[in-house]
Amino acid sequence: MKSRQIVLQNIAGKSFDLCVIGGGAVGAACALDARLRGLNVALVEAGDFAGATSSSATKIIHGGVRYLNEAIKHVDAKQYHVVVRALHERVRMLDNAPHLTRKLEFLVPSYSWLNALYINVGLKIYDWLAGSALISSSKFLNREETLRLMPALNQNGLIGSVEFLDGQFDDARYNLALINTFDRNGGVALNYARVSSLSKDPSGKLSAAHVIDQLSKQSFSINAKVFVNATGPAGDSVRRMAAPTIPPRLRLSKGAHVLLPMEVFPTEQALLIPKTDDGRVLFAVPWRGRLLVGTTETEVEPGDELYVTQEDVEFILGQLNKYLATPVTRDQIVAGFAGARPLVSSDATKSTKKIARDDVIEIEPTSGLISIMGGKWTTHRAMAEDTINVVEKSLGRVAGDCPTRHHVLYGSEDWTSEYWQQLVNTYKVVPDLAQHLSAKFGTAAGDILDLVKVDASLGERIISEHPMIRAEVVYAVREELAATVEDVLARRVGVQFYSWRSAREAAPEVGAILGAELGWNDDQIQAAVEAYVSHINRLLDLAGLPRETSARSLV
Ligand SMILES: Cc1cc2nc3c(=O)[nH]c(=O)nc-3n(C[C@H](O)[C@H](O)[C@H](O)COP(=O)(O)OP(=O)(O)OC[C@H]3O[C@@H](n4cnc5c(N)ncnc54)[C@H](O)[C@@H]3O)c2cc1C
Repeated sequence: MKSRQIVLQNIAGKSFDLCVIGGGAVGAACALDARLRGLNVALVEAGDFAGATSSSATKIIHGGVRYLNEAIKHVDAKQYHVVVRALHERVRMLDNAPHLTRKLEFLVPSYSWLNALYINVGLKIYDWLAGSALISSSKFLNREETLRLMPALNQNGLIGSVEFLDGQFDDARYNLALINTFDRNGGVALNYARVSSLSKDPSGKLSAAHVIDQLSKQSFSINAKVFVNATGPAGDSVRRMAAPTIPPRLRLSKGAHVLLPMEVFPTEQALLIPKTDDGRVLFAVPWRGRLLVGTTETEVEPGDELYVTQEDVEFILGQLNKYLATPVTRDQIVAGFAGARPLVSSDATKSTKKIARDDVIEIEPTSGLISIMGGKWTTHRAMAEDTINVVEKSLGRVAGDCPTRHHVLYGSEDWTSEYWQQLVNTYKVVPDLAQHLSAKFGTAAGDILDLVKVDASLGERIISEHPMIRAEVVYAVREELAATVEDVLARRVGVQFYSWRSAREAAPEVGAILGAELGWNDDQIQAAVEAYVSHINRLLDLAGLPRETSARSLV
């Protein structure tokens, strides 16, 4: 990617076929799809790419066992449609970015024969709905087989489990891979660029977006023939920029997750807890050396701050502990995150748990604003395909074949699961660093290690608990428009999702490298580091966790 200054020059005051507002999964996928169909496309994101919902997912590529349950119980065609579509997209997501995805076995434990039968039948239907997109058939495992895979499971009354296969992915990096692929195919994407208003031509059609650069506070405009609103939870606010009296369509539901050391529940499979106290499911999933547990469901309003609360922690641990032989305590939590699901429903009486995760495309008749709302990460590509078909129609073009169905994303070209060994052989790096770089950056890892060839100090680790090296920060700024300490530690490298305290420890060094790359003075570096450290301390306080700990496993 080009430097931020060059991207700004290429976007400010320029004219495009399409301007996509929002750089989460859906906006990035829309921009890529349109660009690959030959349109001249700009994307603007108010914060960081993947800075909102798209880095707060449970990171599962799935049809949705819970939605299937809702579809069967309530004979709900919408829920059924979501499951079938997502099951098919699951395979495309796995195929198009193998370095960021993997197949993962899930176990649903059973403590009664009736329940085991119900789950077994339900998952057979799940297999059947996948049809040609089936990745592996579900099967019943007896008590011994189950405990061999999950020795720390509560054994009291355990009959066995049903095993099925879905996928897992790195949500933040997948979002960045979509942006990187878009950029490398000639698109222009800018983060920290908030659309503040839209203007119209004399016929009432949208003609320009007015943008405020959140870093310099300067304003500029982007002219385009068509505008797509892919702002997730902020969707209604952008719809109102185009049509101020339009009624809202979105309801927002917060979901929180916590991360625990893997030792609390050693397993290579994911645990699916089939029924929580509030009638949903809970996942405990091995995730990059941690156990990722979630999620919750609480209705929130647009603009509400999203963080893990003490109540979220109590709920998650309370549900999880029923299934563990040895309960987990709050002081074992190492990190967490929360995000808001954008759900499409104008029915204020319906609980957010019951709202189907399907998506809706709306064309505002006067202004022509195309809003894509709702959906799931797993269906982001299909949502983009449908949206760009509508865009092509608006432009008077015949919608062509969709190129993203089989388009391999940046970093996954020629990548294999042994790629990390190539890094060890070529660059003489230690295996844990090679594996980390390969999993996060794919074949772009070579570009990071080339930086070390030029300056050996960039090969140094920043903290002892995580393989991350200094060159990753340089790469994040030069190639991926990282502009803050959190951009690097959360979404580019993932340390913040591994351990809040380790991320805080890494902040001064990351701040210094960022500052050197971006031309900050000492005061600016200090301010950026202090802001990040206070942010992490606040997250720890809000979740009711101690700021400091001396225990090794609690890093
Ligand atoms: C707790 C939780 C768990 C989930 N787990 C899963 C899962 O395991 N699997 C799955 O398939 N799905 C999951 N989902 C759903 C999935 O994460 C979302 O459907 C998806 O990330 C939504 O992407 P988006 O691009 O629509 O929204 P976002 O990622 O929120 O992107 C919208 C972007 O628009 C930007 N924006 C807003 N206003 C403006 C403006 N005025 N100008 C410019 N930009 C603007 C925002 O900054 C934001 O980055 C989960 C969701 C949650 C909340």
